[in-house]
Amino acid sequence: MRLSQRVQAIQPSVTLAITARAKALQAAGERVLPMAAGEPDFPTPAPIREACVRALEAGHTGYAPSAGIPELRAAVRKRVQAELGLAYGDDQVVVSCGAKHCLFNAMQSLLGPGDRGLVQSPYWVSYPAQMVLAGAEPVLLPIPASGAGLNRPALEAALGERTRVLVLNSPCNPSGHVLSADDIDYVAGLARQNDLTIVSDDIYDQLIYGPERPAHILRRHPDLQDRVIVVHGVSKTYSMTGWRLGYALGPKPVIAAMRKVQDQSTSNATTFVQHAAITALESPPALVAGMLAAFAERRKRIVAGLSGLPGLRCQAPDGAFYAFPDVSGLLARSLDGQAVGSALRLAELLLERERVACVPGEAFGAPGYLRFSFACSLEVIDEAIVRLGRFIARLG
Ligand code: PMP
Ligand code: GLU
Repeated sequence: MRLSQRVQAIQPSVTLAITARAKALQAAGERVLPMAAGEPDFPTPAPIREACVRALEAGHTGYAPSAGIPELRAAVRKRVQAELGLAYGDDQVVVSCGAKHCLFNAMQSLLGPGDRGLVQSPYWVSYPAQMVLAGAEPVLLPIPASGAGLNRPALEAALGERTRVLVLNSPCNPSGHVLSADDIDYVAGLARQNDLTIVSDDIYDQLIYGPERPAHILRRHPDLQDRVIVVHGVSKTYSMTGWRLGYALGPKPVIAAMRKVQDQSTSNATTFVQHAAITALESPPALVAGMLAAFAERRKRIVAGLSGLPGLRCQAPDGAFYAFPDVSGLLARSLDGQAVGSALRLAELLLERERVACVPGEAFGAPGYLRFSFACSLEVIDEAIVRLGRFIARLG
């Protein structure tokens, strides 16, 4: 049977594939250190779980409006108004099955054959694949010489009539980098001059370790409300990855298009989950403060541990829950007489030999790096550093 060209042009998600492999090893009784998946290891907070049970008991088990229940759409608008200082109408919001689903609907709505979408490396795995599924060409901007942030020369070189979309993701998965206000202002100028639509993936914006809120394009440039699609969700902030709930806000015609895509594909996100999401979005910050404090402690521990290993260089991430060390110093070394060669092979070897699951930088357009999620216990982090140290000591 012949498969479509579109689907043949993409690969399965590397993050999901490695996570599945690590879980299969765990199920077979191996003690794998799970540092691949980007998912908090905490239970969803009790008030949110209870709200879900109440919604089930109250019979909220039928179809809901495809774009989301009105009460949740209202809660999203209120929350975003508090965060960004901007009012959105009810027809400027859509609730979907996760932020990933929102991004997919956005790419389907904004891009088509002949169009180009810009993605700054290192990038989260799914942006380019979703652009390809929309028939468009992703343009992957190389990591800038400074090591993080925007590659301005590459970005400018990629502008053109058919370049329609630029994805922003700050804090960034995988690097944890937060874009500077200067980079944000620069993007705002380019967007105005070049008729660019910005897709701002804000999924990690509550997980930050410095005293300051990350700069947001719409807080700094509210006049761009008609060319920015805001994507967010409850997965990371409230430890609700499996509940599958995200939301997007933007100009009315784009949201109407995204709603159409959703009408004709998935319909509504799970009805009783939407009721629980209202509780999440209306909860005080104290509900998640404990998780954030735990991430902050783990961040310190893993950055110190990785920085102490020979051949690795690790910057402390500004946000999210990933350490992203540069491992290029290990790639010319060898194991059992064979050169390691690539981060991809290094990640394979770490899983095979030391049962440490992490994601190779190739998945994010960053060969020479590994991504370790520190959404895991301090014990797992400590044990991982021991195993990595043992592995490196064995390299020739
Ligand atoms: N964007 C980024 C950068 C992510 O890391 C993730 C996590 N999978 C998502 C979007 C999607 O999140 P969700 O679980 O809401 O689909
Ligand atoms: N976003 C998470 C990660 O980067 C979950 C996996 C995925 O959805 O790709 O690991």
